[in-house]
Amino acid sequence: MTTFRAPRGTHDLLPADRIRFTRLERLAADLATRYGYRPIETPSFEQAAVFERGIGAVTDVVEKELFRIAPRTEESESWALRPEPTAGIVRAYVQHGMQTWPQPVKLTMTGPMFRYDRPQAGRYRQFWQFDVEAIGDPGPAVDAEIVELGARFYREAGLDGVEVLLNSVGDAACRSAYVATLTEYYRALRGLLPPTEQDRLERNPLRLLDSKDPAMAAPNARAPRITDHLCEACADHFALVRAHLDALSVPYLIEPALVRGLDYYTRTAFEYYLPGREGQQQALGGGGRYDGLVELLGGRPTPGIGFGIGLDRLVLALDETGVAPPAEPVPAAVVVGADPAATIDRLRVATDLRAAGIAARAELGRRKLGKQLEAAARDQAHFAVILGDEQADGQVQLRDLKAGSQKLIPIADLAREVARADAAHRHGLDKG
Ligand code: AMP
Repeated sequence: MTTFRAPRGTHDLLPADRIRFTRLERLAADLATRYGYRPIETPSFEQAAVFERGIGAVTDVVEKELFRIAPRTEESESWALRPEPTAGIVRAYVQHGMQTWPQPVKLTMTGPMFRYDRPQAGRYRQFWQFDVEAIGDPGPAVDAEIVELGARFYREAGLDGVEVLLNSVGDAACRSAYVATLTEYYRALRGLLPPTEQDRLERNPLRLLDSKDPAMAAPNARAPRITDHLCEACADHFALVRAHLDALSVPYLIEPALVRGLDYYTRTAFEYYLPGREGQQQALGGGGRYDGLVELLGGRPTPGIGFGIGLDRLVLALDETGVAPPAEPVPAAVVVGADPAATIDRLRVATDLRAAGIAARAELGRRKLGKQLEAAARDQAHFAVILGDEQADGQVQLRDLKAGSQKLIPIADLAREVARADAAHRHGLDKG
């Protein structure tokens, strides 16, 4: 008999995980709203060219990790699952003429991303990202605002100690001269470079800088630094981003090797990481400015900046640092009854409670009252509504399972009574 499993590199979010993710998604949405971002939702797949052109053909994300969808015979298009949200959002910006909206257009989205990578701890083929994009503002103030927003997200999620790595990767004016200097530097060391890096050297030399290959540690340590080769405009921009971050008291470390994996970045590049975590899992999120991307995807030249924060790695980090997951919701009331067969009565009473906005479970099995009450206690319900002979007089027993008290009340008052007592109880819990 075949046993089916979730695809390699994916993970099911079971209820405890899903509740945690939902909480983070809500926090992300609330926080982005507080900062003036509006929600957007783009498809989970796009024309592959959106990513090939936007992200760059010679990047790991496109070359090795793009999750391509096998074309159906009647389709001439080639599709791919989105490896990151920015290219799709910028495609939407151009398609819907958002260039005519008041600028900047600030957009946020949280959802699953897909990369056909070799799965390992903290690296999945489907993972979630909280993303913000501010399109149409050249910065530098908005750069600092975004970096600060991400840092606050981690704190409000309960993760302390997240650090910001910051760099400038220059722009079209100064990057090519820097890349030429860098290429020259690596060519002189060619014999020392691992074969994959030699190959990359000719195609995308910047990528050598953030190579994970240990053999690259020494050459990279002495490599020319982009921050020493910025043109005046980029150097000024970088200085102003730092001044704004300083003014907001957001700590950061300058990391000249931080070039990020995607081609479209210009000027500001940043990453959030937790010191002490291993390799791949260390980067919790990252982002940067992409002043050329709108044009690459067919729009007028328009600056933009954004970040993608991985929720899966954040949850792993929260677990590692011992942050307790949020409690699962419990029903306010469980409807039980003396007559095991009277499922219609129990279901009807629970339905009325639910219609009144109360989380209620009905005992739909046909077990004895004692067993029903045991299950209600296991549910950690606040109340058991006990249906019995008193129903003939329009009354039910309301047992407070927390206080151990019980009283007879009219069925007509049940919803109000449960709502009032449960709200008072929760209020007490919040205070405690
Ligand atoms: P990147 O655009 O590669 O810098 O990704 C931004 C963030 O998304 C990373 O810092 C991770 O938190 C998360 N992320 C990227 N790729 C993966 C993956 N394969 N599995 C889990 N999380 C990922």
